[in-house]
Amino acid sequence: MEKKITLIVVPLILLLFASYSFSQQGEVQPVEFKKISDRLYEIVGGRGANGGVYIGDNAVLIIDAKMDKTSVDQVVEGIKKITDNPIKYLVNTHSDGDHIGGNRYFPGTVTFISHENCRKELFHPGRDGSPSEWNKPELAPFVPSLTFRDEMDVYLGSKKVELWYFGIGHTTGDIVIYFSEEKTAFVGDQIFLTRPQLIHSYKGGNSFEYVKTLTKMLETLNAEKFCSGHSEIAGREAIRNCIEQMKKRQEKVKVLIEKGRSFEEIKSEFEENEARLIETIYNEIRSSMG
Ligand SMILES: [Zn+2]
Repeated sequence: MEKKITLIVVPLILLLFASYSFSQQGEVQPVEFKKISDRLYEIVGGRGANGGVYIGDNAVLIIDAKMDKTSVDQVVEGIKKITDNPIKYLVNTHSDGDHIGGNRYFPGTVTFISHENCRKELFHPGRDGSPSEWNKPELAPFVPSLTFRDEMDVYLGSKKVELWYFGIGHTTGDIVIYFSEEKTAFVGDQIFLTRPQLIHSYKGGNSFEYVKTLTKMLETLNAEKFCSGHSEIAGREAIRNCIEQMKKRQEKVKVLIEKGRSFEEIKSEFEENEARLIETIYNEIRSSMG
């Protein structure tokens, strides 16, 4: 009798376990805080890109907003476990929905900061030409109200957070948030380590400017750690590699265009997941040729 029960129960448990793990696939991971220092954390998980949080003497600054209410609630709850200081600033690294969509779920007392080009891009039509949702009046309070051009420092008591703009790249309004004590920079989507770089041409992004922008960032900042929207924390070598990869692709596309190859022929010389970036580079080179 006992044996018979085991025979039924064990496969049943296995079946339950299999369906449980299957249902976990594609589900959103809970928001998690990865400690960089006592004051600085990278925020991963949830719906939307990786971001960060800095605990100042008297206030908190968040980097990027996730994109749904559940994730924002988890971010806010997580911060409450670290500090009683109020969330005063939210800095958006750029205008993509997975970095800025969640602004609307933060309390109205938060001041939203971005580059001036990021603010402009928010109101532009999408890739498919559809009007931007940011034109809706109910979203007006969540549009960045504090913008800058080249550099801005935000003080949280005695602690300084540096906001830098190095130029056009992934979009026209990507900024870098730098913490000098931690030698850590948050770069948004200016680097991708596990897939080819995204360049949003429809927002004015440009791969040749990207190379200049990232080079300028490395020259200017003494950063050793680079946190980004969709990759693990990286070192300086990884950034140099991103620049080199981009240059190599540009050079190869240029040579093939000069040989008179068609776009389809050029595309076939690259990996499938590079197609979008190669199309961008191809268009940039063709338009510069007049
Ligand atoms: Zn992103």
